[in-house]
Amino acid sequence: MLLNRDSGQLRSNSFDVERTIAAIESVIAVETRPVSLHEPQFRGKEWEYVKETIDSGWVSSAGKYVDEFERRLAEICDVPYAVATMNGTAALHVCLMAAGVGANDEVLMPALTFVATANAISYCGAVPNFCDSDPETLGIDPGKLDEYLKSNAEVVQGQCRNRTTGRRIAAVVPMHAFGHPTDMDALAEVAARWNINLIEDAAESLGSRYKGHPVGQHGMVSALSFNGNKIVTTGGGGAVLTHDPELARAIKHLTTTSKQPHKWAFLHDQVGYNYRLPNINAALGCAQLERLDEFVAAKRALAARYIAAFQDVDGASVFQDRSDCESNYWLVTMMLDRPDPALRDQFLEACHARGLLCRPVWTGMHRLPMFQNCPRDDVSQMEALEGRIINLPSSPILGMGPSGMAVS
Ligand SMILES: *Cc1c(COP(=O)(O)O)cnc(C)c1O
Repeated sequence: MLLNRDSGQLRSNSFDVERTIAAIESVIAVETRPVSLHEPQFRGKEWEYVKETIDSGWVSSAGKYVDEFERRLAEICDVPYAVATMNGTAALHVCLMAAGVGANDEVLMPALTFVATANAISYCGAVPNFCDSDPETLGIDPGKLDEYLKSNAEVVQGQCRNRTTGRRIAAVVPMHAFGHPTDMDALAEVAARWNINLIEDAAESLGSRYKGHPVGQHGMVSALSFNGNKIVTTGGGGAVLTHDPELARAIKHLTTTSKQPHKWAFLHDQVGYNYRLPNINAALGCAQLERLDEFVAAKRALAARYIAAFQDVDGASVFQDRSDCESNYWLVTMMLDRPDPALRDQFLEACHARGLLCRPVWTGMHRLPMFQNCPRDDVSQMEALEGRIINLPSSPILGMGPSGMAVS
């Protein structure tokens, strides 16, 4: 059957492009176009704190805001240690190094993620091994991962080995897509059974909760991102979270050129990285963290309004968090009832023509040229999600009334 591009009507699917756009526009209360996917908001003490770093001259790798940012992050995420980094990819890289991932290891990760997860694994000389997604969480499907390991792996002398490639499977890196928590208890169980370290890519999910606890505290180490499009931004930045004082110390050392503390001597005791977050960025981050609760409330209110508006839309709905989780709804996710890449792209074209800058999900990692020969499970559930997902405009401002308070 053929698309009728003029009317926006499509095949047997009752999805209607115009009606769906009308539902989205009923939620977006601003007149100006374009409406971006996610815009940061600086209405707190951002200018005050950033100005202070400039006035004092402490804009770079030393200064009080880095320590303060790390302290506040640890408190918010309910972990004892946070180490700030210059971006989320660097945070992931040191998470993997701290977990002992090295050359020729394999690391399990979702095929459905931003490319940074796979890149960071490659920086270690390791090889990504792609897992399928659970349509209920958009994260790694723990049951399917266990089945995959049963048919491909064995634990020999305490180490998990891929029987096909002969490589050690050193870690698994779940990612909480668009802020929706992955099923961490089930994954932790699989990881423990197979002697695999658990590392969280929590880049998108600051402020989300899994069974009452902030995400980012379930792995041996976890990575956050504060890129300009994340729920809280430092311009560019990231952080590692951990419960382990030794790992925290090692990560701080690794990210600060591995220099031994000394008044004047330059003594570096290993190949280190300059992955520090500058003080000027940390200052911005401190002010942004003061507003995290407001941002989460605004995004949850916005998601609730989209969910309500989609009650009258046929052929699509808005993804909702499980009852035992609280997503930060970083990006509100519309899902076509059935995978249909052509319809998805037609809808995206129509949205962009109206100045609604919606987006599809990332191309599956297993199809990118540099990763297409990596080992992987069957990823049919992920590929089905690829044909269904469209992210809707999700800036915190859209969930706030004129007073800046969340409006449902
Ligand atoms: C944003 C993001 C990162 C890393 O972010 P940076 O842009 O390097 O700060 C890593 N993983 C995921 C899933 C992300 O969305």
